[in-house]
Amino acid sequence: MNAVSSAGPGGKRSPARLPVLPLRDVVLFPAMAATLYVGRARSVAALEQAVKHGNLVLVVTQKSAKVDDPEPSDLHHAGAVARLLQNSPMPDGTRKILVEGLHRARAARIHARGPCFEADVEEIAEIAPDDLETHALIASTAKSFSEYASLNKRLSNEAVNAITASSSSVSAYSDFLAANLNARIEDKQALLEEPDARRRLEKVYELMQQEIEILQLEGRIRSRVKKQMERSQKEYYLNEQMAAIQKELGERDEFRSELAELEEKIESRPISGEAREKCRRELRKLKMMSPMSAEATVVRNYIDWVISLPWNEKTEDKVNIEEAEKLLNREHFGLRKVKERIIEYLAVEKLTRRAGDGPILCLAGPPGVGKTSLARSIASATGRKFVRVSLGGVRDEAEIRGHRRTYIGAMPGKIIQSLRKAGSNNPVFLLDEIDKMSTDFRGDPASALLEVLDPEQNKNFVDHFLDLDYNVSECLFITTANNIHEIPAPLRDRLEIIRLSGYTDLEKEAIALRYLIPKQFEATGLADAAPRFSREAIQFIIHRYTLEAGVRGLDREIASICRKLAIEQLKKKLEPNARITRRGVVRMLGAPRYQRQERAPRDEIGIATGLAWTELGGTLMKVEVSAMPGHGRLTVTGQVGNVMQESAQAALSYLRTRAEVLGLSHLFNEALDVHIHVPEGSIPKDGPSAGITMATAMISELTQIAVHADLAMTGEINLRGRVLPIGGLKEKVMAAHRAGLKRVIFPAENRKDLRDIPRRVRDAMELIPVSHMDEVLQLALGQDELRKHLDRQRGARVTGFQPSSSTRN
Ligand code: ADP
Repeated sequence: MNAVSSAGPGGKRSPARLPVLPLRDVVLFPAMAATLYVGRARSVAALEQAVKHGNLVLVVTQKSAKVDDPEPSDLHHAGAVARLLQNSPMPDGTRKILVEGLHRARAARIHARGPCFEADVEEIAEIAPDDLETHALIASTAKSFSEYASLNKRLSNEAVNAITASSSSVSAYSDFLAANLNARIEDKQALLEEPDARRRLEKVYELMQQEIEILQLEGRIRSRVKKQMERSQKEYYLNEQMAAIQKELGERDEFRSELAELEEKIESRPISGEAREKCRRELRKLKMMSPMSAEATVVRNYIDWVISLPWNEKTEDKVNIEEAEKLLNREHFGLRKVKERIIEYLAVEKLTRRAGDGPILCLAGPPGVGKTSLARSIASATGRKFVRVSLGGVRDEAEIRGHRRTYIGAMPGKIIQSLRKAGSNNPVFLLDEIDKMSTDFRGDPASALLEVLDPEQNKNFVDHFLDLDYNVSECLFITTANNIHEIPAPLRDRLEIIRLSGYTDLEKEAIALRYLIPKQFEATGLADAAPRFSREAIQFIIHRYTLEAGVRGLDREIASICRKLAIEQLKKKLEPNARITRRGVVRMLGAPRYQRQERAPRDEIGIATGLAWTELGGTLMKVEVSAMPGHGRLTVTGQVGNVMQESAQAALSYLRTRAEVLGLSHLFNEALDVHIHVPEGSIPKDGPSAGITMATAMISELTQIAVHADLAMTGEINLRGRVLPIGGLKEKVMAAHRAGLKRVIFPAENRKDLRDIPRRVRDAMELIPVSHMDEVLQLALGQDELRKHLDRQRGARVTGFQPSSSTRN
């Protein structure tokens, strides 16, 4: 039996009869240890039996793994005798065992009686040739194995090492390989049953080759799948890129067609030759640029501006003087003189415009007197477009003339912007509030404006942004101002000033009834419901909710009422032909906002009523004086300006020179402090026209004669007591009228202004021209009172100054 190797490390011969341990799915090879889980009753019994047999069992494999309770016929009879190395019970009642195969064996017979199968065991003799062929086979198998091991990721490193180490014995090597081969159970069983180790190794080699092929195939498939995935990913990216490129190309196309369109416009639009040349140059630059770049946007914007300006487009002038007159009358109440001046202006314009150097109209007056709306009417009367530029608060020349294109976000100035808006180069161009422009380090907007208005220069007006000559001389410029004294002098020289001074209450009432209310009814959809405002209600709004020379506030209040009426109508609460009374006004506008300016209820010492002009119209101005022993100081309080301070000084100096005549010299022998206060200190006041008022109040205080309360006055005073002319007589008289005063003293030199005052007001008042302060005193204090005062002074022994406050009522 020399060809039979001693199987198993122990080399022990097994006894003739051994318990049988059937396995499913596993073939145990000699020289191989395996951990197994044993649960079936017969198998557990077999383990117990093994103890009696020196821990030996015959391990065989079931023919079918599916059979749970196999009969002897269900088992392969060839198997391996194995030694039980470990046998540990598990918590679930099964056993975990470690067995080691010893040698091949066959069950000659299996006995099924008893708790486990037992077999009569015959050893299978192992044939292990030891020749060149066998060694060559081992060598090539080893080579294949290393390939196999590299492909089969499931083979552990230890297993590989153990297998390699066993390669010196063909028997062990073939069994080790067989045990670790990923082969079918039948193939493994066949390997176990093969007693010839070389033949066995040949079969292993064959199986391994197959296995390698399968693994290689798997590998190829895997890498193909991977490649496939990579490719589809790549395709995705390429597609994305393609889309981006196509978009870019599309934009290029778009850009190209945009350029073509621009070019077409540059060539076809009626722009000046210089402008066309410039645009062509810019377009050439644009073509070289990336369409999305910032510079391209700048250039595009520039060309856009140039080609959209009305270089030659104009509306046809249709000045028909009669028509224009009718239109102005239809759209504006009153303002007779203003309308006449406008018509004259238009007539002259029509005749001389071609010569191109008429003066520029300036509508001057407080807000809300219809300056803007007159300008609009002029536009519609002449068939021109209308544009308006507000110059209030403009301090930067660039606002008029534009920013150079090098600035980010540069734009043309207001002039060019408005012309584009107008869409014609000959609109009526309203320059609103030219008195509210100011000058600072950013240049002088007034001088830019002067250039716009100057017929010598405005044919070639240059906006910094456009940087091209533009002819603005076709525009009909009209300016407005609240205060003509604030207009920069060089500009004022170019203007023909038309004053609008504000409306009387009756005029306001008429404007409300005829224009403002119908307009607001129209705007709020109330025209059909036709509610009516009572005259009393309108007067109430004028007096108690507005304080203005114009009608803007009145318009606003009426609009507010109309909106509330519209809501009432929607809620079906508005009766047809409802009448709006004072009560309705209070309900809708809330409590009245202003106290009515009224004359003082009685004559008072040291208090005189003056009249002041403000941008909002005329207003009453009380002047209060008190005098007391002191150091000869004059104090003026109540937010009064320098001119008015000086005027107070002048009044006091006059008084001193007249002290003798007025019987006051004894007072001036003492050092006397005089305090002049002009109440309502929150309103700044200035100007010389309060001169006679301050003088009157002072003399009243010093003589202790009360000033007549039905009297108001205005006039400048000089040191000799002469009364000098003032401005704004109309507004002042109207303010006095509104306040219920009956008499107004005014400088005789202002007589010419009387005709501006509405007849109704003139007739209702006593307007008294004066040239000297003596006349003022006689009117204000009364001749009799003055005489009595002088008599008293001559008769009385003068003891000193008596403070006036104690004798005031
Ligand atoms: P301004 O430009 O002087 O500040 P607006 O022209 O804006 O004043 O006038 C304010 C409102 O008063 C406008 O609705 C205008 O139509 C109206 N208005 C002013 N005066 C008259 C008038 N005499 N006749 C009719 N409506 C007038």
